[in-house]
Amino acid sequence: MTETIKTDVVIVGAGPVGLFAVFELGLLDIKSHLIDILPKPGGQCAELYPEKPIYDIPGFPMVTGQGLVDNLMKQIEPFSPSFHYNEMVEALEVLGTPEAPLFRVRTDGGITFETKCVVVAAGGGSFQPKRPPVPSIEDYENKSVFYAVRKMEEFRDRTVLIVGGGDSALDWTLNLAPIAKRVVLMHRRDEFRAAPHSVNAMRDLVAQKKMDLVIGQIAGLKGDNGQLSAVSAKTNDGVIDIACDRLLPFFGLTMKLGPIADWGLNLHEQLVPVDTEKFETNVPGIFAIGDINTYPGKLKLILSGFHEGALAAQKVQRYVYPDKKVIFQYTTSSTNLQKKLGVA
Ligand SMILES: Cc1cc2nc3c(=O)[nH]c(=O)nc-3n(C[C@H](O)[C@H](O)[C@H](O)COP(=O)(O)OP(=O)(O)OC[C@H]3O[C@@H](n4cnc5c(N)ncnc54)[C@H](O)[C@@H]3O)c2cc1C
Repeated sequence: MTETIKTDVVIVGAGPVGLFAVFELGLLDIKSHLIDILPKPGGQCAELYPEKPIYDIPGFPMVTGQGLVDNLMKQIEPFSPSFHYNEMVEALEVLGTPEAPLFRVRTDGGITFETKCVVVAAGGGSFQPKRPPVPSIEDYENKSVFYAVRKMEEFRDRTVLIVGGGDSALDWTLNLAPIAKRVVLMHRRDEFRAAPHSVNAMRDLVAQKKMDLVIGQIAGLKGDNGQLSAVSAKTNDGVIDIACDRLLPFFGLTMKLGPIADWGLNLHEQLVPVDTEKFETNVPGIFAIGDINTYPGKLKLILSGFHEGALAAQKVQRYVYPDKKVIFQYTTSSTNLQKKLGVA
């Protein structure tokens, strides 16, 4: 049995809205754990448009998607939130009462939390890997075919075929090359979307014969009982077999609502209905903020999600500190808040 992490709030999703919720909760002395299926913070901003300029964040005439995420991470530093990346929140169980909520939250990686409140900031749903269109690939998944590297040790002394031409494919090629028995990178053409320095580093390794590069596409899998022995690939020279015992396909990500549909939140068109006073769902103690929620007049904008997080935090405070007098304070003038921010 793994240990249960006890906390005030679990935030499902480390997109911009989940990140800013940490700030609003932190000002009220509420401790958060953030969970995201992605290996990094920032949700859509970091995953879909890191270099695009955003023009409608108050106070920033222009900030890139990644720039905004970096600033949010800096802003929440004083509250030292705990991040759990590469974890999908799967199950949510009600343990408490409507007056004194308590929930058990479990991730697919086996982490269990006991938390007083849950803030669902899951955006358009969890980013999930696209499955390559190869017959019977499901039989090999999580045995010898993986869509993410959770533990590098899993790949030590293995012959690893990595498929794709983006940053994930190239980054893992470079990271696994030193520990794998052999790494083979396959891409459908000899041009890569990944950062040029990664592409150059990969080409250097190929020139030094420390790894192989194949231009081609996956055609089929060979193996037994979920254990791969080779991947057939269509290349310009015809179909070839590439011997390997691990396959890492990086075919991009798609957003799927995922397990949130099973949490009893009265979904409406795949969105979570909330009130606009507290952004609480039909289950007391569970809040929904950002792109995942719906209410009359909802705008799927980052600034709306920031406002929603601020109001949700006020109600969370009443659950976490039922006896505490609620005092409204400004960060500009409250030494109490400034102490929490480490500036006074
Ligand atoms: C190309 C593009 C341009 C945009 N431009 C603008 C703009 O100019 N201005 C603006 O205001 N908005 C813009 N948006 C919209 C903006 O990005 C979203 O409103 C914002 O990202 C919503 O933030 P969020 O935190 O609610 O959700 P997201 O950013 O979607 O983050 C949600 C996170 O939750 C995680 N998650 C979901 N379910 C689970 C689960 N079960 N377990 C673990 N993790 C989970 C996901 O992996 C994801 O990382 C743009 C969007 C796109 C695609």
